[in-house]
Amino acid sequence: MYSTEICYICTMDMTLEEIKALLAAEGEEMESLLRRALEVKLRELDNYVHLRGLIEFGNTCEKNCLYCGLRRGNAKVERYCLTDDEVLSCARLAHELGYGSVALQSGERSDPEFIARIERLVREIKKIDGGCLGITLSLGEQTEDTYRRWFDAGAHRYLLRIESSNEELYYKIHPRDAKHSFSQRIGCLESLLKTGYQTGTGVMVGLPFQTLDHLAGDLLFFKKMDVAMVGLGPYIPHPDTPLYRFKDLIPGAKERMDMTLKMIAVLRLMMPRINMVAATANQTIDPQGREKAIRAGANVIMPNLTPGEYRESYFIYPDKACVKDTPDQCQTCLDIRLAAIGHRILYNAWGDSLAFTQKNTRK
Ligand code: SAH
Ligand code: SF4
Repeated sequence: MYSTEICYICTMDMTLEEIKALLAAEGEEMESLLRRALEVKLRELDNYVHLRGLIEFGNTCEKNCLYCGLRRGNAKVERYCLTDDEVLSCARLAHELGYGSVALQSGERSDPEFIARIERLVREIKKIDGGCLGITLSLGEQTEDTYRRWFDAGAHRYLLRIESSNEELYYKIHPRDAKHSFSQRIGCLESLLKTGYQTGTGVMVGLPFQTLDHLAGDLLFFKKMDVAMVGLGPYIPHPDTPLYRFKDLIPGAKERMDMTLKMIAVLRLMMPRINMVAATANQTIDPQGREKAIRAGANVIMPNLTPGEYRESYFIYPDKACVKDTPDQCQTCLDIRLAAIGHRILYNAWGDSLAFTQKNTRK
């Protein structure tokens, strides 16, 4: 029974079989795993939660991922793109609210106009109050040159989920073509690490055809890549996507939520000092989902700053949580919810990954 017997040092180097045993834990064994992950997090990172004001600035996408509502083939989506002024006022709002960092996310585009625009926006955001905002980008696969341009402009964190580190499963949830190449996605993660970003990746939990072996393999992949951040969230079937027809093959909402929590907890034991996002998808399938993720070892939350009129068009998956909340409501709600579980927001700080900072100090 690994959950009660493995010591902290051993859990940093678990084998696939040991990880699978922990992911299979249920009832009291699962509770004990989550408690242990919380202990490790509090010991290593204290009870702080870092915020990234999320700006979903456009939903046009060149790709056709089989699970995502923003895919190119979904004609039902009304496409939008925020203006520069709208993006910059979201960033200023993040600063006024004391968030310390923003995250720019959108569908994937690689045209020169888009690349130049992001570079310009990053530079403009950096001018706010003398560069006080940290900038995370989540803009999909790009060339190493593009990643470098955005890094040089001032972005310092990048999120690119591998979605599944198992090649076979990857091609069950993506079309098998040049635009959705597994090896290219890995190459992008390598380019991001090489460029010097605090690089984040992650997977969806509860996909059709996903097994415990795949999930345990994903955790070992994060460790092998030595990433600074990870985002894990449940898969939520979207009716206007091809993967939806397999919805009866996936575990129920509670099982997907519990497996996400176990993934977070086991990863906290394996990589005690990385940043881990409590994804909004957690809250979508469980009203307490974000708090549960924080209690299982996550330490980052991304409150949505996208202007209200666009939010309903950024439907990656259905019934997204907090779509109607204003930023003020969101902040008060977060403060209260986190205090109730013994955590506090660290305002006005970038909240960098301690794992990343220490690795780079050692270099
Ligand atoms: N286009 C960028 C960023 C936007 S998508 C990219 O793909 O990297 C952000 C994340 O949303 C994806 O990485 C994916 O893991 C998640 N996502 C997409 N569809 C989802 C669904 N149906 N359920 C849960 N998460 C989903
Ligand atoms: Fe586009 Fe990202 Fe959705 Fe894939 S997951 S379709 S790249 S927005």
